[in-house]
Amino acid sequence: MSRGTLKVQCGGKKGGAVRRKTTRDAAWVLPVLGAVSVLVGAAVLGLPGHGHGHAGGSTASRSNGRGQATASSTSSLLYDSERPPANQKSAPDPHLPAPVVSMDIAHASDKGTHAVNITIDDGPDPVWTPRVLQVLKDDGVKAVFCMIGEEAAGYPAVVRQVVADGHRLCDHSLHHDTTMGRKPPSYQYSEIVNAKGEIERASGGVKPLYYRAPGGAFTPYSRQIAASIGMRPLGWNIDARDYKRSGALTIVTTVEHELPNGPTILFHDGGGDRSQTVAALAALLPRLRQQGYAFGFPVR
Ligand SMILES: [Zn+2]
Repeated sequence: MSRGTLKVQCGGKKGGAVRRKTTRDAAWVLPVLGAVSVLVGAAVLGLPGHGHGHAGGSTASRSNGRGQATASSTSSLLYDSERPPANQKSAPDPHLPAPVVSMDIAHASDKGTHAVNITIDDGPDPVWTPRVLQVLKDDGVKAVFCMIGEEAAGYPAVVRQVVADGHRLCDHSLHHDTTMGRKPPSYQYSEIVNAKGEIERASGGVKPLYYRAPGGAFTPYSRQIAASIGMRPLGWNIDARDYKRSGALTIVTTVEHELPNGPTILFHDGGGDRSQTVAALAALLPRLRQQGYAFGFPVR
C-alpha cells in the first residue's frame, strides 16, 4: 500500500513532504474492505459487554506523553504521536490580532461530562472519508474533521459532503508540518491562514471553527492567530492510535480504556489505509451510546 515515502500522522510530523493520496493504492482493496466493514461489529470483534464508562474532563490520568517514531512493518511510514499540551494557556499578545474566540486549547464537550467528541484528522481522503461519513451517518453521530489545506483543495467534493452531513470543519494547517511550531511566525501564519482559505473555498464558504496544529505543534502565536480568525485551538484527550494499524479491536479497546482522560477522541481518515478506523468506529459508536455517552462538539 505504501508508496515508500516518509510521512507521518496527526500526531505525526513531516508535513508537506508528501501529498497524501490513496486512491490509486486503495482501489483494489475496496471490495474486500466493504465486506470487512460490514462484518466487523462488536460481536465479530469479540468485545466484552459494557466497558467502564465514566468520562469527563479529568486531566489527571493522561498517560501517553511523547510518542515514539515507529517504522510500520507494512510500510516505511514514520509515525510520531505527540499529545498537545494539556492546558496550554497564555494571555493574548497585544501586538497581535485580538482573539475573537478563546485561544486556550479546547478539550471539553459542549454536551457536558458524559459525552465524547469524535474528531477525524488528516483528510479529506477520496476513499476513506466517505466511508467514515457513512459510519457516522449510520450511527447518527456528528464529528469534527480536521483537514489538511492542500488535501481540501484537492478533494472539494469530499469537503462539501462532510459539510452536507452536518459535521464541523477544523483547520489542520496547509501542509501538516509538525515542526511548524519551531518555525518563524510568518510560516506559521501562512500554514494556518492559507489552509483556512483552502478549506473555505472547497466547502463553498463554510468556515472551519477550530484549529488543530499538526502533531499538536501549537505555539502561543499560532493559537492567537487561529483564535483571531474565529478558530478555537483544538486538542484531544484520547489518541485512538489508529495510525498504528494494530487492528480494529485494539483501536476500540484503546479508546475505551482512555475514556477517563476526557471527551475528545482523535481518529484519522487520511494518511493511508483507514479500514481499521472505519471498522473500529462502526463497533465503538454504538457501544458508547449504549453506555450513555452523548456525542457532542468540542467547546468553542
Ligand atoms: Zn494530523
